[in-house]
Formats: sequence, C-alpha cells, structure tokens
Amino acid sequence: MSDNVPRDGATVELFRDDARRVDCEAVVTGVDARGVRLDRTVFYPQGGGQAGDAGELVTPGGVRIAIADTRKGENAGEVVHVPAPGQDDALAALVPGARVSARIDWVRRHRHMRFHTATHLLCALVPYPVDGCSITADYARLDFHMSEPLDKQALNEGLARLVREAHAVSHRWITDEALDAHPGLVRSMSVQPPRGTGRVRLMEVHGVDLQPCGGTHVANTAEIGAVLVTKIEKKSAMTRRVVLGFAEPAEGR
Ligand SMILES: [Zn+2]
Repeated sequence: MSDNVPRDGATVELFRDDARRVDCEAVVTGVDARGVRLDRTVFYPQGGGQAGDAGELVTPGGVRIAIADTRKGENAGEVVHVPAPGQDDALAALVPGARVSARIDWVRRHRHMRFHTATHLLCALVPYPVDGCSITADYARLDFHMSEPLDKQALNEGLARLVREAHAVSHRWITDEALDAHPGLVRSMSVQPPRGTGRVRLMEVHGVDLQPCGGTHVANTAEIGAVLVTKIEKKSAMTRRVVLGFAEPAEGR
C-alpha cells in the first residue's frame, strides 16, 4: 500500500510512487488561465530543481491538448498542466468532470530522471551542502557551498564508477515520529529532512546517498548511462557549480 495520500482537493501524484508510469485516466477538476487541473496525474510539476513534465491530454473524442509544462498550484498538492499556446478551441472541450487520458513525454522525463539520479551521485562525491539545483532534459547543474577547487576528471571517474557499480535506487515514506526515533538515519542523510507535513519521502541510492527528495529517479544507477561533468564554474567565493551533460547525442530530439 502507498502512503502517498493527497489532501482534499489536491491532485493524486502518481509519479511519486511510480516514476515509470507514462499515462493515466483522469477527470478534469478545473481549467483557468494558468492551466488544467486533474484529480490525478502522472505529470511532475516543476520543483526541487527538476523541470516540469510536458506531454498531452487526450479526450475520449480524440481531441489532443499539448501540455508544454507542469507547475504547482497556489495550494499545497495542486498540479497545474500548462497548455502550449494557441489551443483555445481544444481547451474548450475541457470542462470540470470531463475525462481525459494524460500522457507524459517519456523521452524528456527519462532524461530528467537520469540527470536527477546523477545529482544524487554528485552529492555523494562532493561532501558539501547544496545551495542550488536545476535539472532539465539537456543539462543539470548543482551548486555546492564550498571554496575548494573541484577536479573534473576525478568527478567523472567517480560518476562512471557509481554508474558501473549498478546501485539500486528506491524511495520510502517515513513519518516525523519514525525519523525522531532513529536519529542516526537523519545524521546519515546528505540533506536534513523538512519538518511539519508529518512525513518525509526518503530517496536512497543504496550504499551511496540517502536524502529527502520528492523528484523522479531511475531504478538503478546503471540506468543513468553516460553522464559527464561538462563544466565546473566558480560562481562566487563560496559557490562551485557543477554542470552535467549526456555523453551521447539526444535521441529523437
Ligand atoms: Zn532526488
């Protein structure tokens, strides 16, 4: 059983417990200038540094609405599917109560998942606090709070080793009470868990990294494939930025 239960009025976030699910049936709960809200979705809203999903909504009558981005709504747990411009006629088919199939652009999402998981490996290789993160389909960057120089070749060798070692990646939900009962768990995390919502989603790259994270990840580090540090920048006296890219050309892009 999943502990991923939304509050009243919030969107059921299917991607939190199954990052590989590409589509779902859903009911429209609202449409406004920002976008389309559904009762449940496979679309990840921009957050935690990870870009929002793109994809499409399809009505039972075959009307297709291209979704360019996904954002969080004003209230906790709301997901807003942002349509690509120029679809006013198609959007008219979407009224509250209407049924749609929601399908993400899996090629784009899987690139987010590979990069996102790679940033967890970087966290293990660079033991300094992270003070910024951006994950897109074409690059990812992570800002570390540190003044020491970083060695690009050493980081690339470390990433390649962790990918080659094929570490399993999994998540679990843990209550604040369970965290309090296991202080050693918090000490072993590279990022301190947020408090206040009653539960925390822990991401574990087994034997490598453990931290609270709500993003989407691949199931095993081997699935990250050929990811490289393309650039290391000194952004300020206390910030080193590490930029990741894919070593192979993009498929179908
Ligand atoms: Zn993560």
